[in-house]
Amino acid sequence: MSVSRAIRHAKAILTGFKYLLAGPRLTIMYPDEVQELPEGYRGMIEYDWDSCIKCSLCAMVCPADAMKMYVSREESEREGKVVKRPGINYTRCIFCGFCVDICPTDSLKFTKVHDVAYYTYEEQIYPPVEFRKGVPKPLYFREPRRVRAVLDERRGMRYEPADGS
Ligand code: SF4
Ligand code: SF4
Repeated sequence: MSVSRAIRHAKAILTGFKYLLAGPRLTIMYPDEVQELPEGYRGMIEYDWDSCIKCSLCAMVCPADAMKMYVSREESEREGKVVKRPGINYTRCIFCGFCVDICPTDSLKFTKVHDVAYYTYEEQIYPPVEFRKGVPKPLYFREPRRVRAVLDERRGMRYEPADGS
């Protein structure tokens, strides 16, 4: 190993030690601790079936091909014509918010849910009937402590209990 490379390694190790000994951690102990997320956070999306006017704008504007219009079979049979409604594929969604912003009836809304695990690829695709059921709730082994990120002049970031205790 060259001398300059060894110096770079030593500096990296020293930096690691500095932050190890420097007091509060920058990371939280998820899932025992969960961060309270700010208003406007872009998590999984809620869909309001009743207010949706099936205009397709959300699917048209989606840059990731995550929001698509699916044939709504029951409605199509009832109305005797093809009726389509939006569904979402979370393996593709980049949470840009275009679909939420463009919806003329506010039928799409971001929630703060982001920490959901799936067993299969298919489970992450929500056709309209699944989409309307709402976002899944994260399952914690035990109720987590809620923490809030606050800016710290010295370290840049620290966490404190969200309930102020
Ligand atoms: S948030 Fe963006 S990427 Fe995700 S479905 Fe909406 S438009 Fe598509
Ligand atoms: S969710 Fe909104 S943008 Fe999408 S089809 Fe329904 S009304 Fe149109």
